[in-house]
Amino acid sequence: MFFSDLKMKTKPLALIVDDDNSSRMTMAAALRKAGFAIEQAASGEMAIALFNEKRPNLIFLDVMMPGMDGFQTCREIRSCLGGEYVQILMVTGLNDIESIEKAFLAGGNDFIAKPINWAMLCHRAHYMLRTGKALKEIHLSRSFLAKTQDIAKIGNWKVDYQDNLCTISAEAAQLLGLSPGQREDLAIATLLDTVVGREKKFEYAIVEEAIRERKTFTVNFQIVFAGRARHIHMHGEVLRTETGDPELFLGVVHDSTQMKQAEKEIRYLAFYDSLTGLANRTLLLNRLDQVLEHSKRNKRSFALLFMDIDHFKQINDSMGHHAGDILLKNTADVLKQCVRRSDVVAAGAGDTPDNLVARHGGDEFVIILSEIVSSENAAVVARRILQAIPQKQVIDGQEISVTASIGISVFPEDGRDADTLLRHADTAMYHAKKRGNNQYQFFKEALNTAAVLRFALERDMKTALANGDFILHFQPQLRFSDGGILGAEALIRWNHPQKGFVPPDQFIAIAEDCGLIVDINKWVIETACLQNRKWRDMGLPAMRIAVNLSGYRFGEQNIVKILQDTLTRYALDGDSIEVEVTENVLMHDTEAIIETLHGIKDLGIKVALDDFGTGYSSLSYLTSFHVDTIKIDRSFVMDCCDNKKNRIIIKAIIAMGHSLDMEIVAEGIESVEQFRLLKKYGCDEYQGYYFSPPVSAIKFESLLQEKALTSVKEQKSGTRIPAP
Ligand code: C2E
Ligand code: CA
Ligand code: CA
Repeated sequence: MFFSDLKMKTKPLALIVDDDNSSRMTMAAALRKAGFAIEQAASGEMAIALFNEKRPNLIFLDVMMPGMDGFQTCREIRSCLGGEYVQILMVTGLNDIESIEKAFLAGGNDFIAKPINWAMLCHRAHYMLRTGKALKEIHLSRSFLAKTQDIAKIGNWKVDYQDNLCTISAEAAQLLGLSPGQREDLAIATLLDTVVGREKKFEYAIVEEAIRERKTFTVNFQIVFAGRARHIHMHGEVLRTETGDPELFLGVVHDSTQMKQAEKEIRYLAFYDSLTGLANRTLLLNRLDQVLEHSKRNKRSFALLFMDIDHFKQINDSMGHHAGDILLKNTADVLKQCVRRSDVVAAGAGDTPDNLVARHGGDEFVIILSEIVSSENAAVVARRILQAIPQKQVIDGQEISVTASIGISVFPEDGRDADTLLRHADTAMYHAKKRGNNQYQFFKEALNTAAVLRFALERDMKTALANGDFILHFQPQLRFSDGGILGAEALIRWNHPQKGFVPPDQFIAIAEDCGLIVDINKWVIETACLQNRKWRDMGLPAMRIAVNLSGYRFGEQNIVKILQDTLTRYALDGDSIEVEVTENVLMHDTEAIIETLHGIKDLGIKVALDDFGTGYSSLSYLTSFHVDTIKIDRSFVMDCCDNKKNRIIIKAIIAMGHSLDMEIVAEGIESVEQFRLLKKYGCDEYQGYYFSPPVSAIKFESLLQEKALTSVKEQKSGTRIPAP
């Protein structure tokens, strides 16, 4: 059966190495008969030369030779190129156990003892030939696998369940930035050594559990080493024995960086407009669905701005597509800038989707303002965009005039689905165009009216400051214990030349939106200090005036410096003024706020937390901002006599505030019942119509004098009248 090998086209080549001429001849004759082609060498040196030249399939090597002996020759052949896998049969003396051992150590595959049994020799030669072929195939397939993995950037590693050893292939080690080889137990940790980012712990747990529980896993992660980041895909599976017992855990690692990059590029092509880099229609609709869902779930409002460049078609037709493209790109840049400044938009919870600017097609752009407090916020952005687009632009050396029109729809008033909202914003845009260029228009007329009113107020407010149309009114603040007036809260009033009295509720929010609040805060501090100085100069008792300060970026308004300068200018101490802020103010940019509040306190000025109970009412605001006073919001005081829930809240606020060493002020005390209740609960101070509404400075002076008079009367008559 072995002779089937002889069907090979060329005969297998055997090299016989023996210094003894007759031994060689006999062996050659026997092997020839068994179907081998023969080469002969009389020494080790000759054998090596012949091996390199002829590449025999089998070598018969006599161990006892003068000069280079068989062992040495065997070692030399093994170190030749291609010598690793050739089959070598060592010919030893009978019972020469030492030689047999040496032959194996030198790298022989088998041995045969002299005198030789020729029939056996031929059979053995064929066995060896077959083994040699199998070994060569394994070698080839191994290098093929390694090469393929190298090309495909795939590496592998395995954990042997017998000894818990982990072996990492050279490719895997290279991909993971590790040194190849074997490691014990901690192997899984080192496998994921270079993983970066938050996932690390997570990936580690998955891989570890999969190996321990012997189950398949797939993970994707990013690694960084040698200053390069790569994406890696790792997959692991159990290999079992025939009886089903887990034997090996095999893992492959694959560098998916290029794939990820390709994915990114595909995503970009699919979702972004190549000319402007803005989101395209597909992404717009996608995001619109998300925002809709978010707004429905959280009962929030959002706005769509639909913008179109006026006369774009004429520009494109007369100046060419190149000019048109430049104009579109310029416009896209302006839009990105205007929407990035999101200070007009609500500070939403962390999961609010971002605003989005998209090219809807042609010269149409759509902006999603993903969370707005009121529809006027959308008008602010629309106005800002129209102002930011340069009306004169030089394109290709030619000056053109550019304007745009914007239509606005608001969720949920103007539609509850993407289609309707887009259509209504589009309709509004056409109305804006009809009204003349460079306009914006809400879908609903009522919102237009509101927006127009709002911007008229904004415009007038700027002149009001310069014209002295603002004044401060003062509402007394009193102690519960003895009814003494310890100060006043300054409340702004606007005496509008046409509209008459405008309450602060109607203009403070607008001032905060457009940034005018910074100047108003300054004016309030200045006026409150000036008034306080006047009263002191009149000989009235020293008093503390509380000012309301607010505005976005409270920490960046230079408040501390303004307070310090003003106090110095009027020769007043820190305790002649108090600052009232709301939780809203504290919610923004915390670092700067903490610094500002510390600065205020360093001046000896006390800080009160206004409207407490209506916002987040978080204990952490109270402790981390170290406020001195809590003002219980008027809404709790209002019906505290009939509403048990309110009474419980009031009691809780007082208990909590006192435990933190804070003073508690009740706002809006209107009746004697409310007064008695709050006093009973241990509240420290109060203000409200019960004693006095906010009044002008002159009236406040007479209030003080009246109060002084009553106290004198009380003392004289010995009666005790409940305040006021
Ligand atoms: P606030 O700081 O909570 O001021 C208390 C408001 O309650 C004042 O309204 C005051 O007139 C009113 N009030 C006081 N006692 C009673 C009462 O017994 N019953 C009733 N029904 N109301 C009472 P006002 O003056 O209209 O001010 C409204 C809000 O406008 C203020 O609420 C404050 O948030 C803001 N504001 C007022 N002045 C300024 C200011 O100078 N700067 C800033 N940033 N905000 C101001
Ligand atoms: Ca206040
Ligand atoms: Ca208040």
